Amino acid sequence: MILLEYEAKNIIASHNIAIPSGQIMAKDTVIVHAPFLPLVIKAQVPIGGRGKLGGIRVIDTGRDYEESVKKLWHTKLRNHLPSMLLLEEKLDIDREFYLSLLIDAASADILIVAHPSGGIEVEENDQDDFLKLPYVPGEENRIGESLAELFDLPDQVFVLQDMVRNLGQCFVKNDATLLEVNPLILTKSGDLVVADCKMTLDDAAAFRHPEWDFETPIESNNFVELDATGTIATVANGAGLAMATVDAVTSAGYRPINFLDVGGGASEDLILESFTNLQSYPNIKAIVINIFAGITRCDDVAKAIVAAKNRFPTLPPLYIRLTGTNFDEAATILNEAHIELQRDLDSCLKRLVKEVARG
Ligand code: GDP
Ligand code: MN
Repeated sequence: MILLEYEAKNIIASHNIAIPSGQIMAKDTVIVHAPFLPLVIKAQVPIGGRGKLGGIRVIDTGRDYEESVKKLWHTKLRNHLPSMLLLEEKLDIDREFYLSLLIDAASADILIVAHPSGGIEVEENDQDDFLKLPYVPGEENRIGESLAELFDLPDQVFVLQDMVRNLGQCFVKNDATLLEVNPLILTKSGDLVVADCKMTLDDAAAFRHPEWDFETPIESNNFVELDATGTIATVANGAGLAMATVDAVTSAGYRPINFLDVGGGASEDLILESFTNLQSYPNIKAIVINIFAGITRCDDVAKAIVAAKNRFPTLPPLYIRLTGTNFDEAATILNEAHIELQRDLDSCLKRLVKEVARG
């Protein structure tokens, strides 16, 4: 699960990492006058490289502010419209660094990766020039010294040691798989501040994080259009299950319209929104729903299905497999609405083949 920048920053700030001061602007609300100046407006979309795509605007005077806000609400960044805008104090940049923690798949260790020139051109750096160190709890002081040397910041050794300690704890405690700070900024007044942060959490750990409650924008990586002229839409949770569902539909002789992973913890609203998108495909004949509920709750899915049925009288037939958390409640809700459930994906497809022409 990829967090939006402001969500990631809220988490690291709670681990005593310095972030710029700022505020969030929710969709459809407009803060008419710049609440402070100068500021940076940042489109909250779950992708990197927003600077180059026009999703980051530095505002020095009040006159540019309103137009920029309006523009950003309507700027699609690689197919993502922002669900929020983040307004932040503009930092006076002296230098930009790159610093990240990630799970090294080969060793299963947490790895620290750093480079003295961060920012939007970080990919231009030679891969071999990145400093890579295993993150070992207890060794933060040594790691902080290495970073101070790499960044040529001898005065900031203590700050970097604390930062490694705090980022490391934050990473482990939140079951992150990636925590990328780019850029880490040295301001002209000598402060180290996290100007941008990307964080990915391990979906498999969701069960031990009841506090996880994030925006998962539907038009994200989780939705992939496969064939706009296809006939069968799919809704699943978890990338693996979503792929398996698409494959099964293909094997049964149909052209799937899409891949959709509604994610762990998908809410009723989010699921309803996905129906809104799907039912607009012109050749849609059926929707196959395959949910293995963990943190997502079957009853939320069931309520969304019933709501979708009510809202869209032309909704095509649904072939639904649900299992997991709150299944019994879900079965009752669907039963009362006369919506049939299938035992497993196989049963869904058998029914589909029986009732819907291939092609
Ligand atoms: P990304 O392109 O999605 O990674 O977005 P970032 O938040 O990293 O912003 C991209 C670039 O915008 C940064 O590398 C900075 O050069 C610039 N930028 C971001 N915040 C500030 C700021 O507060 N002040 C200034 N001067 N530049 C900023
Ligand atoms: Mn960045």
